[in-house]
Amino acid sequence: MSEISGTTKLFAVFGDPIAHSKSPLMHNAAFKALNLDCVYVPIHVSSGDLPAAVKGIRAMGFVGVNLTIPHKQAVIAELDEITGDALMSDSVNTIINRDGRLIGTSTDGIGLLRALTEDGGFEVCDKQVLMLGAGGAAAAVIPRLIKQGIKSLTVVNRDLKRAELLQKTIADKMAFEINICSNQDLKSLETEQYQLLLNATSVGLNDEISPIDAALLHPKMFVYDFVYKSGGTLLCRQALERGCRALSGESMLLYQGAASFELWLDCKPPIAAMRATLN
Ligand code: NDP
Repeated sequence: MSEISGTTKLFAVFGDPIAHSKSPLMHNAAFKALNLDCVYVPIHVSSGDLPAAVKGIRAMGFVGVNLTIPHKQAVIAELDEITGDALMSDSVNTIINRDGRLIGTSTDGIGLLRALTEDGGFEVCDKQVLMLGAGGAAAAVIPRLIKQGIKSLTVVNRDLKRAELLQKTIADKMAFEINICSNQDLKSLETEQYQLLLNATSVGLNDEISPIDAALLHPKMFVYDFVYKSGGTLLCRQALERGCRALSGESMLLYQGAASFELWLDCKPPIAAMRATLN
């Protein structure tokens, strides 16, 4: 990042909580690597303040904004246009401010697939997938998983109504039938049938808790935890102990961020510089 001045382009991530986010580190490292006059800041935005914060993007001339927990779905009502993956998922993680017109899309699905294939060496085609969580991040990645040819998808959520809503959205928009189940029913699920477990809940973000009983993890399962934090997540440690291959969410963060960067600035993101900040 060069000195901040009146011409510096502004970027931000809105979330609640936000202090854990590594997006500012990663994007500012990318700006520095390319010598771009840009700065990216984390902004704590509560749900009640989201409409005002989005208006602020226009008012203050932010060029691009990311959305994280819990705003990915609620933000849609505040935007002028929805495009790309967000059309199918009703989840937005990237806003592009085009001359005051706010365009929302999602790069989470791109990020997850790149993380699985490039960092995990795992192909999703023909796989049976078990996904924990039915929030914004879960919704965001499902269209890409379906397009990539997964064989089946079971979504487990604490609030079953939210999972039902997701099931209906995907059935309507993509003609793909998701199986759903509640957290209570998870215990009795035959998990041996699944080759990929995705944790798209926020469980493990703030505490050392795992979203699934370790006994349900089996060695043929690839475990991808969307959550990332220094020292790794309990789920990943449990998965490795059970003989699974496992990755936590830094790689998804990297590739979704790289995709947002490219949309905002129309130039190739410096992946190595961005990755270095995450390690
Ligand atoms: P949302 O708030 O939209 O959804 C949260 C999800 O977590 C819901 O399914 C919710 O269930 C579930 N959940 C929360 N607390 C609990 C609990 N105590 N027990 C069981 N389930 C719980 O958040 P997002 O979908 O936007 O984000 C989810 C996580 O994914 C966050 O930790 C986020 O940081 C991470 N993420 C990481 C990315 C990366 O690049 N690595 C990208 C995107 C997200 P319910 O519906 O019942 O409340």
